[in-house]
Amino acid sequence: MNTELTQTPNLNDAVTIAMSERIVRIKDRMAQACARVGRDPSEVTLLPVSKTFDDQAIRRAVSLGYKRFGENRTQEIAQKTPLLADCDIQWVVIGQLQTNKAKDVARLAHELQSLDRLELAEALDRRLQLEGRAIDVLVQVKTSPEETKAGLEPTGLIPFLKQISGFQTLRVKGLMTMAILSEDESAVRRCFAQLRQLRDQARQEAISGIELDRLSMGMSGDFELAIEEGSTEIRVGSAIFGARDYSA
Ligand SMILES: *Cc1c(COP(=O)(O)O)cnc(C)c1O
Repeated sequence: MNTELTQTPNLNDAVTIAMSERIVRIKDRMAQACARVGRDPSEVTLLPVSKTFDDQAIRRAVSLGYKRFGENRTQEIAQKTPLLADCDIQWVVIGQLQTNKAKDVARLAHELQSLDRLELAEALDRRLQLEGRAIDVLVQVKTSPEETKAGLEPTGLIPFLKQISGFQTLRVKGLMTMAILSEDESAVRRCFAQLRQLRDQARQEAISGIELDRLSMGMSGDFELAIEEGSTEIRVGSAIFGARDYSA
């Protein structure tokens, strides 16, 4: 007898199905954005951003085939790692980091998308050497005029890439940005277009050891514009997991 058919779905199943349906809708919107600009949907990946969501929510996404998860605080990664030890998760750090967190990144993270200064690169290199590890990194560039947005100033990008090209422990794979938070679509689009242009300029330098194939840009509220402007990876939290609760 097939017991699955006789079991009433428990709450977890219903919640997982709802998550799966939200992801299907996101994938559909990604494909439509690709179609508008003649891109192949396989060029754009979806990075679930699990910050503030608990291990149960992450388990649901794991059961739907996800393995890489974006988090912006190393403390949160440290808390979640033991709870999810059986899941083979790759943590992707996407938040602004204090230099003293380099040790945690070297220990816990698979990838860092928010590398924005030499001091941090040096600290990471030291810590990664001690761990005997290397990680993929994206350089975060500030393309928005907002004070609150982190990242390297665009004019500093090429010199910075040259400076970090010698670090064997940091495998530079591309660039990351956060667009301006604005109702004005053209202002948002300009941020994404600027990152792509900066990438194209930096590529001309052909800096040894630096790959710039990846552009991480686009979040729940603006990923379609990002894809139209060349994003290869969108970082999506609330559209997958629901509204965030920062009270805890
Ligand atoms: C939180 C966060 C995201 C995801 O934001 P949503 O609006 O929930 O999709 C993406 N990128 C960074 C850097 C973030 O901090």
